[in-house]
Amino acid sequence: MTRLLTLLLLFFSITISAQLQSPSEFLGYEIGTQFSRHADVVRYFEHVAANSNMVTYQTYGKTNERRPLTYAVVSSMQNLANIETIRTDNLKNIGMLSGNASPTTTIVWLSYNVHGNEASSTEAAMQTLYTLITEKKDWLQNTVVIIDPCVNPDGRDRYANWYNQVKATPYNTAQDATEHNEPWPGGRPNHYLFDLNRDWAWATQVESRQRLKIYNQWMPHVHVDFHEQGINEPYYFAPAAEPYHEVISPWQRDFQTQIGKNHARYFDKEGWLFFTRERFDLLYPSYGDTYPTFMGAIGMTYEQAGHGMAGLGIETDEGYVLTLVDRVAHHTTTGLSTVEIASQNAAKLNTEFKKFFNNSDLLYKSYVLKGNPDKIKSLTDLLDKHEIQYGFASGGTVSGFNYSKNEKGNMDANGALVVSTNQPKGKMVKVLFEPDAKLSDPLTYDITAWSIPHAYGLETIASTTLVSSTGNAPTASALNSPAPGSAGYIAKWNSLQDAGFLAELLQEGIRVRFTEKDVSFAGNKFDKGSLIITRSDNRMHQDFDTKVTQIANAHQRALFASPTSFGDTNTDFGSPDVKLVNKQRIAVLKGNGTSSLSYGTLWHFFEQQLKYPITSIDTEDFPRIDLRKYDVIILPEGWYGRVFNESVMDDLKDWIRDGGKLIAMGRAVSTFEGKDGFDLKNNASEEEKEETEKGNLIPYDQRERESVKDFITGSIYRVTVDGSHPLAYGYGDTYFSLKQGNESYQFLESGYNVGYIKGDAVSVSGFSGADAKAGLKNSLVFGEARMGRGSIIYLVDDVLFRSFWENGKLFLVNAVFFVNNNAFTL
Ligand SMILES: [Zn+2]
Repeated sequence: MTRLLTLLLLFFSITISAQLQSPSEFLGYEIGTQFSRHADVVRYFEHVAANSNMVTYQTYGKTNERRPLTYAVVSSMQNLANIETIRTDNLKNIGMLSGNASPTTTIVWLSYNVHGNEASSTEAAMQTLYTLITEKKDWLQNTVVIIDPCVNPDGRDRYANWYNQVKATPYNTAQDATEHNEPWPGGRPNHYLFDLNRDWAWATQVESRQRLKIYNQWMPHVHVDFHEQGINEPYYFAPAAEPYHEVISPWQRDFQTQIGKNHARYFDKEGWLFFTRERFDLLYPSYGDTYPTFMGAIGMTYEQAGHGMAGLGIETDEGYVLTLVDRVAHHTTTGLSTVEIASQNAAKLNTEFKKFFNNSDLLYKSYVLKGNPDKIKSLTDLLDKHEIQYGFASGGTVSGFNYSKNEKGNMDANGALVVSTNQPKGKMVKVLFEPDAKLSDPLTYDITAWSIPHAYGLETIASTTLVSSTGNAPTASALNSPAPGSAGYIAKWNSLQDAGFLAELLQEGIRVRFTEKDVSFAGNKFDKGSLIITRSDNRMHQDFDTKVTQIANAHQRALFASPTSFGDTNTDFGSPDVKLVNKQRIAVLKGNGTSSLSYGTLWHFFEQQLKYPITSIDTEDFPRIDLRKYDVIILPEGWYGRVFNESVMDDLKDWIRDGGKLIAMGRAVSTFEGKDGFDLKNNASEEEKEETEKGNLIPYDQRERESVKDFITGSIYRVTVDGSHPLAYGYGDTYFSLKQGNESYQFLESGYNVGYIKGDAVSVSGFSGADAKAGLKNSLVFGEARMGRGSIIYLVDDVLFRSFWENGKLFLVNAVFFVNNNAFTL
């Protein structure tokens, strides 16, 4: 019986391996001699899964362009037969599932090609898969390897398809050749031009959201994010550079070094150059290395020389030819080496993983947040994506660190959202919510501040004692009924959800007003910015009442049906301070000269969040268009010197004088600095001017450290707000702004300074160099300059940055629909 079974099994495995093909056999070309299309990569993984009993392959979602997102689970046949137990035992080990388990199988997750044009890694994914199940089966006895062959298929195909179109045959190694110079925006980002390697924590993109679901099901012990850097760099692998976030455990640090040393053995044998411990740090939580690290894994970035410039082969500045074949070989080597060392330490990885999830040492036990219910709902939606638990306080006063005061304080906690650290993901809670991340070194690769309470604009206390809470959210459902006898409907203006309501009303042809005064009707008070939808404006709509209430209900907006248009104060529906909102025709610039990331956030914001149409116009076409077709033109962050030559600038000014509204975001603001009529001046401090006159006496080896004084690496500043200006409706008198650079402008002389830093700048979180901070004294953050009948709106800090600073977005909506609404066209 047993012999028969063995014979059968033997026969079975021979037939199977006879059918299994290597990537090169399957695709018909040697790996590294072509860029494979995503569909072909998926076909290869399907082929392997169909012909190996060590691989299962599944789809976990779809991209915006409908490409499949996939992952393979690779392990021994025995483990795969038992895979659900392995998976759940791992979750039990760390308290994410109830029950006891002491697992010894380790889980390694390899993520490839998050940046689409760092395209060697998906090729390496195929090679790694094949090698694992043919030559390296032994490692799979105690290891489960999860392979996501392409995190960003839309970006990768954008790159691969472009390259395949323009490449010479044979490939040309000259750096000037067209195949080495990608057109804007390049293949790095996803469809909406987001950098998916900055999106793990904020999960604004469909790829991240769907990936987090399976990530949470598996919770790997090791996670590798494969990347590429400039063509002249050697290979980079762990250990990472400082700063490390303080939640990172000694074991996580130590095992990074062990992994790095294992890779080094292979690289030394082949004579391949590499570097470690420099440049790529572990602080900002939204990367493919830090996010898994803060979820207990050994999270790492590996960087191969290559990137969108490299093609199939390119001559580097050092004079050798870097080929795709080499790049694939390096990434395959580190991938395999990672699995090897994980397999050698499988039991230890499990015990150390468990330890990471003990959060009893964390200083703050609970974060208690209060504010607009829509903002709370947006935040709980985010927490759900990370499977972070929360509850709501039933009452009592909490004391602790008060975020808006930036000192100790109290808050009435009744109904407040409570997020505590006594849960498996307590360390991630700390990272996301803590007032200020401890920084061991200001030279970091990314922003140093992201504190959720400020990003969501919520009153928050961090408490060192546990605040009790229950799972029940205070319910506030808005179900309105048509009120045909009313003079009209009034709705509050506080959140992005209110803005979404307005956007749909406008598109449905409903005429909407907003009030520039605080108003009261039939005893009900409404603040500036509230929407007033009058019956008299909408007489053309037979179904006015049902339509408005339906849209309001769909957006969960509470309407007040006012029996009269006669105000309790001096302001009636017909007041000149109750202004019609124009159905704005919006143009957004894109293309050369603009930041693709900034354009992408605008595109995504209007299309996916506000759901209001925009017309995207390429900067190359901009000089030819008829500006009068648009009411609003938005300039994403960018460098517009070349686009806005003298004649284009003159046209733009004429359009503004006629009533056009120009909105400049972030660095786009500098386009107008010192330009006639734009009321905008640089705010360089006296010391800075003196400094430049003195000449450079900084020692050569101090140059990097010295430059830090001018840096602001994403830091949160307190900004004073003029809440009476339409740009600030829905905000109070203070706003916490994420500053990413040291650009500083003087107060507008004749325009409106709506958000500004008065006196010395106050940073509440993140790193700012001393000089940069001093330069922000008395500076403009948000403002409106008038020109003729039109306006220029300066948003010096990018209110849409990576789309995660939720509390900034309403400024943009206000700028588009409310500011200077006198000049509208109908
Ligand atoms: Zn990258």
